[in-house]
Amino acid sequence: MSQHHVKIHDKTFQIYISERQILQTVEVLAARISHDYKHKRPLFLAVLNGAFMFASDLLKEVSINCEISFVKLSSYEDMGSTGHVTEVIGLKEDISQRHVIILEDIVDSGRTLYGLQNTLADMYPASVEIAALLVKPDALQHPLQVKYTGRSIPNDFVVGYGLDYNGLGRNLRDLYKVTDL
Ligand code: 5GP
Ligand code: MG
Repeated sequence: MSQHHVKIHDKTFQIYISERQILQTVEVLAARISHDYKHKRPLFLAVLNGAFMFASDLLKEVSINCEISFVKLSSYEDMGSTGHVTEVIGLKEDISQRHVIILEDIVDSGRTLYGLQNTLADMYPASVEIAALLVKPDALQHPLQVKYTGRSIPNDFVVGYGLDYNGLGRNLRDLYKVTDL
């Protein structure tokens, strides 16, 4: 069920991108990836926690052989990026010679994925690309190539569809953005 406004902690959010629109976007990304990685058996690396819903919906639309693993990184607190990328937790796969596709919910400053890319590059993958549901181009501060972008959005704080505001809101089916109300 979708609502026009939701209150989470101290903030009000308004509906921004509907589940229907999100799933259409995800379908397009999955089709592009399936085309580009035919016969390459890509290894998706989904960045927890935020990308779990995106990863789930995307994988269901990918029509080629693929594998997925989930990693956790330190990154975001409250409504600003902390700037720390400590370590990649949970990566058990040998990624050498593999075609890796990072799955991320949203790219803001790009710090998180820039750090992750650097870490992965030392592990001799055949290739590393990024698929992000959302990108905030105006916030980007690091030289990051996002090959598969679902949607570019303005510099607003968003929640829902896996993304949280201080722990809450991940279960919302739609994406919401913060209002000034
Ligand atoms: P970056 O390292 O690119 O600055 O930040 C990326 C991470 O910050 C994302 O993985 C996400 O977890 C979090 N983030 C960035 N923008 C937003 C936003 O608008 N809403 C939420 N909920 N998280 C965000
Ligand atoms: Mg994230």
